[in-house]
Amino acid sequence: MAPVERESMEVDVLFVGAGPATLASALHLMNTVKARGVEPPTVLVIEKGASVGDHMLSGAVMNPRAIAELVPDFAQQGFPTEYVCDDASFWMYTRKLAVRSPFTPPNFQKKGYHVVSLSNVAKWLAEKCEAAGIEIYPGFAGDKLLIDGNRVVGVRIGDMGVGRDGKPKSNYQPGMDIFAKVTVLGEGVRGSLSKQLIDRFDLHGMNPQVYETGIKEIWRVKPENHKPGRVIHGALFPDFLKQFNGMWLYDMKDHLVSFGFVTMLDSKNPNNDPHRDAQGFKNTPFMRKLLDGGELVRYGAKAIPMGGLYAQPKLYVDGAMLVGDSAGMCNAFKLAGIHMAIKTGIMAAETIVDAIEAKDFSSVTLGGYAERYRKSWAYEEHREARNFHGSVDVSPLFAMGLNIPLMMITKGRGLIDPIRYEAGHKHMKKLSELPENDRTPPAVQFDGKITFSKEHLVQFSGTQHEVDQPSHLVVADTDLCRDVCSVEYGNPCEKFCPAAVYEMVPDNENPGKKKLFIHHENCVHCKTCDIADPYQVITWTPPEGGEGPDYTRM
Ligand SMILES: Cc1cc2nc3c(=O)[nH]c(=O)nc-3n(C[C@H](O)[C@H](O)[C@H](O)COP(=O)(O)OP(=O)(O)OC[C@H]3O[C@@H](n4cnc5c(N)ncnc54)[C@H](O)[C@@H]3O)c2cc1C
Ligand code: SF4
Repeated sequence: MAPVERESMEVDVLFVGAGPATLASALHLMNTVKARGVEPPTVLVIEKGASVGDHMLSGAVMNPRAIAELVPDFAQQGFPTEYVCDDASFWMYTRKLAVRSPFTPPNFQKKGYHVVSLSNVAKWLAEKCEAAGIEIYPGFAGDKLLIDGNRVVGVRIGDMGVGRDGKPKSNYQPGMDIFAKVTVLGEGVRGSLSKQLIDRFDLHGMNPQVYETGIKEIWRVKPENHKPGRVIHGALFPDFLKQFNGMWLYDMKDHLVSFGFVTMLDSKNPNNDPHRDAQGFKNTPFMRKLLDGGELVRYGAKAIPMGGLYAQPKLYVDGAMLVGDSAGMCNAFKLAGIHMAIKTGIMAAETIVDAIEAKDFSSVTLGGYAERYRKSWAYEEHREARNFHGSVDVSPLFAMGLNIPLMMITKGRGLIDPIRYEAGHKHMKKLSELPENDRTPPAVQFDGKITFSKEHLVQFSGTQHEVDQPSHLVVADTDLCRDVCSVEYGNPCEKFCPAAVYEMVPDNENPGKKKLFIHHENCVHCKTCDIADPYQVITWTPPEGGEGPDYTRM
């Protein structure tokens, strides 16, 4: 396309993504300038979803510590708590039995935590932000970082109205450039701009970031199966000894339950399939009894960063900061990231006010954020979990049987500190390296009542994308998929994507071979493909602003 004229605008502080990290940060920024008597800055939050909360997916049982720091009377101010947990338990399941553990491991002791819909929490925070004078632009997807020398100066929004052939359509609208003194990236897990920032400025942590993918379903269950205040975590035996997957179950209002299953993305097996794992788990008698006579309400998926402290990137550069999951702040040991996201947002906000006062948005002042983090309870919490993923990487048995208990006694140290490991996709073995009976995916029957195919479930994600646009899943070399990956790994994208986006279809130009077809319109923005592809040739980029899932109530 010929060079285009873009509109531009300038703000003092730009937040990318309207998640708990950025919304908390924006709100705290306004509260702090008021408290310190500083001239209020112009603040803009951009969000790729059609409205705030649409792309929020979480469990979620939330540690209230950070929200209480942000809004001390949050309960009185109508915070959207579903229930407060009064019964936290850990269960061990087999395909026939469900056994409640006589004690709940410390990482799953969630009594007093708030069960929430993160989508509703984001909406609640957004209302407070708007009341404080913060502008929020939903439907604005940040596409590129604007960098001047070694300084981040803003973000370019993605173009609208480009056809599948890459040519402008009649509704073509070039994305505007938004310039800011400081840009705060809170895009959540595997943020596309955050990835650019971390690579461009080499901000990588000591260990690579690693991930799991959570499948979430909301069901309306029979009243007798609904137990307000219940919070369950658990694992399927003996499978978890091979791969450290797990489940959750939280009750919500209106006889809804939030069920989720979390699958590690560092599997040796290219047939690893989070959707299949979740459906398989629903075949246990415990789940069948719970869901029998119930109704599926919503489906979705999202990756979770689980590397912890040693995988966290440097948090700032000249003109930019990373908050929440974009900075790997989720505590995967506790499956808890909302309080960390809010807390990092708070610390980033206080640092931005320092920068406004000093009129210096370079890393000299923004580095105060990392200082604050190192002195915070959030850092302490991460230190105590710092070798969690490393332990699991050695083996689930080593983790559960020895190192995690040792970590709890030694405040996170365990037997070895730090445990180093490789990126998850490097674990994947070629089919020829696997034992014969692991080479084909285990069959799961979908009964259409409790267990469902990806194609069926994706309709419950509410996702929508214009078909006539370039695929936002950019595959650098599709010949590799056809000629090499099909033989070496059996095209794992068909398995790990929980929304049936990738399909190998007959290649008429190469009889006997299959080529990649991308159903980009199904994408639920979980980021699994960007993470798990063994050749790292898939890049997730934001589609047109306003597209993607509708995670109302998730
Ligand atoms: C399956 C699952 C279960 C979980 N369970 C729990 C739990 O029970 N308790 C708990 O405390 N934590 C839980 N977590 C973790 C928690 O949800 C995250 O740590 C938290 O949501 C991180 O907040 P964030 O603001 O950093 O990012 P997010 O909540 O992911 O928000 C990021 C926002 O940025 C937007 N965005 C991304 N890129 C762009 C872009 N380029 N331009 C514009 N907008 C963009 C996204 O659309 C999204 O709205 C869970 C996570 C998952 C995935
Ligand atoms: S295409 Fe990628 S990001 Fe989209 S649903 Fe599939 S795995 Fe997730």
